[in-house]
This record gives sequence, structure tokens and C-alpha cells, in this order.
Amino acid sequence: MSKQLTIALVAHDNRKADMVEWAMHNAELLAKHKLVCTGTTGGLILNALKEKGIYADISCMNSGPMGGDAEIAALVVRKQINLAIFLIDDLNAQPHEADIQMLLRQCRVHNVPIACNRYSADLMITSTLWDNDDYVPAVPRYIKFQR
Ligand code: PGA
Repeated sequence: MSKQLTIALVAHDNRKADMVEWAMHNAELLAKHKLVCTGTTGGLILNALKEKGIYADISCMNSGPMGGDAEIAALVVRKQINLAIFLIDDLNAQPHEADIQMLLRQCRVHNVPIACNRYSADLMITSTLWDNDDYVPAVPRYIKFQR
């Protein structure tokens, strides 16, 4: 992929091991893009990349429960995120459920691709559509359904 993307990376505590493993698996690729992370996720990815001797452009927001998801949602609204990888802990309640739903909703509203598992993340990050200037993503249309 030749286009530089801004990629949001967020992982709940019980998904952080998955996120770090995924990020290391894709380290060379991620180093070509700008990364925006919630605080703890970003710190873990930064350290893991450093251990591999890889420099990446990572901006860390607040920790998720302290507003990091909300900050990333605001960047989505401002069209400053191309792709979001959001590994959610679906098996445990989160204190910041409202912010999680906001980030998911804003990605849907603003047509930002969002991967909630590693399989989707792999498919999205390797898509050839990023470099296809003829490809125009269809935007969501909200048409009142008539029975
Ligand atoms: P964290 O936030 O990376 O700061 O832990 C993630 C989240 O819980 O949304």
C-alpha cells in the first residue's frame, strides 16, 4: 500500500494481548502509517515496536475510560481517521460503555471502516482499495422505509 493512512488502535484490557500480537505481526506495515491510540494500548504497542527496533508515529490519547475513545470518536467526526481497529471485550462490562457505543456509532455515521476482530483487521489493512483512486466508497443513506 502506498497511501499513508491514519489508523486508530484501541483494545480493552482483556484484548490487549491480542492487539499487541496483531500489531507485531503487522509491524512493518503499521510503521508506514500514522497511529492514533488510546493511552494504555498506545504505550504497549510503542514498547513492543521499540523492542523490535521499529519506529512508528504513534499519538496517544487519554486512556479509554478517561475519554480516549471519545477523543478518537471526535477525530472520526473530523474525518481524520481512515481506519479503526477496535478490539472490544465482549465478555465483560466496561465502565465507559457509552463512549464505546459513541465510537462505534460515529464510525458508522462517518463511513469509517472499523474492524472489531483480528480477521477483519487483517482484511482491511491489506485491502487494495486504499490505493485505487477509481474506487469511491458508497456513503450510508438513511431512506425512510415505506411499507
Ligand atoms: P486504554 O483504553 O488503551 O487506555 O486501556 C482502551 C479502552 O478501554 O477503550
